[in-house]
Amino acid sequence: MSMMSMPKPLSNSSIFVPGPVLLLGAPGVGKGTQAKRLVERFSIPQISTGDLLREHRKNQTELGMLAEELMAKGLLVPDDLVNQMVATRLTEPDTRNGYILDGFPRTLNQAEWLDRQLADSLLPVVAISIVVPERILLERITGRLICPVCGTIYNMYSEPPSQLGICDREGATLTQRADDTEPVFYERMNAFRSKTAAVVEYYRSHGGRFAEVDGNLSMDEVTRSILATLFELRNATDSLESVQHEKVR
Ligand code: AMP
Repeated sequence: MSMMSMPKPLSNSSIFVPGPVLLLGAPGVGKGTQAKRLVERFSIPQISTGDLLREHRKNQTELGMLAEELMAKGLLVPDDLVNQMVATRLTEPDTRNGYILDGFPRTLNQAEWLDRQLADSLLPVVAISIVVPERILLERITGRLICPVCGTIYNMYSEPPSQLGICDREGATLTQRADDTEPVFYERMNAFRSKTAAVVEYYRSHGGRFAEVDGNLSMDEVTRSILATLFELRNATDSLESVQHEKVR
């Protein structure tokens, strides 16, 4: 599995403070996979609103039960509920040096709320939009398999585990998300086009800490491009030079 062939940590990455990083993009562009790589590299948490909602769903909380039906249809959960959930998560101490927001914000209202929420933060938000042609996304979504123990993401077509349906790391039986089906994919793309595309434009036109990366490359190449973008947007020249010379297999 290619998690094993990830680029090695940079020697000076321990002094680089990533701050709040947003990974934006349509369903299946690789936000979750890339967020996990940044987590390993910088020891900051991944805050995936989809994962948090799935956790609520599993625990049958009020929010989880409300979200369940919307998620099954590929529709967005109301802003106020998601914002509140993110606000609670951001109070936890592990977010001090930064975090990767994966799947949030998804509406303009959420983006504006986040701006207000982070108005006093030391480092401004950096938004990185991962772009993949739509025709490729369907296969990525319907082929996605996830380890329920370690969260490693596989794809039965392009990144299969060594043993069919079994996690290379944990030996656990891989699972498929309930909303990773073709009909729900189209609904999720609809939500992306009608609500989230405007969020990408919002960050593109506000303040300059925005960049697009090509997500239709190997996982390692996308990781390298995200790292280079992050260092560039944070003006971390030393780190940027190291990642440019780093070998990616
Ligand atoms: P994801 O795991 O990011 O693909 O999200 C799965 C589902 O959770 C989405 O299709 C939505 O139903 C819901 N969801 C996740 N994040 C958000 C958000 N920021 N705003 C509204 N709904 C969300």
